[in-house]
Amino acid sequence: MNLILFGPPGAGKGTQAQRLVERHKIPQISTGDILRAAVKAGTELGKKVKPLMEAGQLVPDELVVGIVGERLTAEDARNGFILDGFPRTVAQAEALERALKTLNRRIDAVVSLEVPEKMLVDRIVNRGAQASAPRADDNAETAVRRISAYRAETEPLKAYFSKKGLLRAIDGTQSMELVEQSIASALSQVQPAGGV
Ligand code: AMP
Repeated sequence: MNLILFGPPGAGKGTQAQRLVERHKIPQISTGDILRAAVKAGTELGKKVKPLMEAGQLVPDELVVGIVGERLTAEDARNGFILDGFPRTVAQAEALERALKTLNRRIDAVVSLEVPEKMLVDRIVNRGAQASAPRADDNAETAVRRISAYRAETEPLKAYFSKKGLLRAIDGTQSMELVEQSIASALSQVQPAGGV
C-alpha cells in the first residue's frame, strides 16, 4: 500500500505513521525526520535547512523532492510506504506523481488527519513539553508560523487529492486508538493497486 499521511503540524501524523508501519510492515518516510537527522549530523543539507526549520518555514521543494525520490527506490519501500509530512506543496505532489510514474506505481490513498486549527498549538506545545529530546520547533511561536505555512502552502493539496478521489478524511481529535481504528477501517476499503 502506497500511502500519504496528510494533516497540519500537531495532527498526530508521526504517531499514526508508526502504527501503520507495524500494521502494514511498510516503512515510514518522514521528510521532517530525514531533515532533522541532516541538521544533527551537520551535513551541507543540514546547514542549509536548519534556519528555515527553526523559523517554521518550508524548505525548498527541490531539496525534499530529491530526498523522497531517492528514498522511494530503496529495497524496503518495494511493497509500499507511508509518506509523512510530504508532499507539502502542489509542486511536491506533482513531482511525486512523476517519480512514481517512472517506477510504474501510484498513491493508493491519502489519509487526512483533521484537527481544528485552534487545537494545534496546544498539542504541539504539549508534545514539546513531554518529549525527552524536544524538537527545536515545538514551541508556541514557531508552531504558529508552521501552522500558517500549512494553511498557505499545504492545505490547498486537499482539493488536489480530493479531485483524484484519494482523500480519506479522519477525525484526528479522537484518542490515538480511535484514530488508528478509523484509519484501518478507511483503508480496508482501499484496493491497493500501487504495488509493483
Ligand atoms: P515535520 O517534522 O514534518 O513537522 O517537519 C519539520 C520541518 O521540516 C518543517 O517545518 C519544514 O521546515 C521542514 N519540512 C519537512 N518536510 C517538508 C516538506 N515536505 N517540504 C518543505 N519543508 C519540509
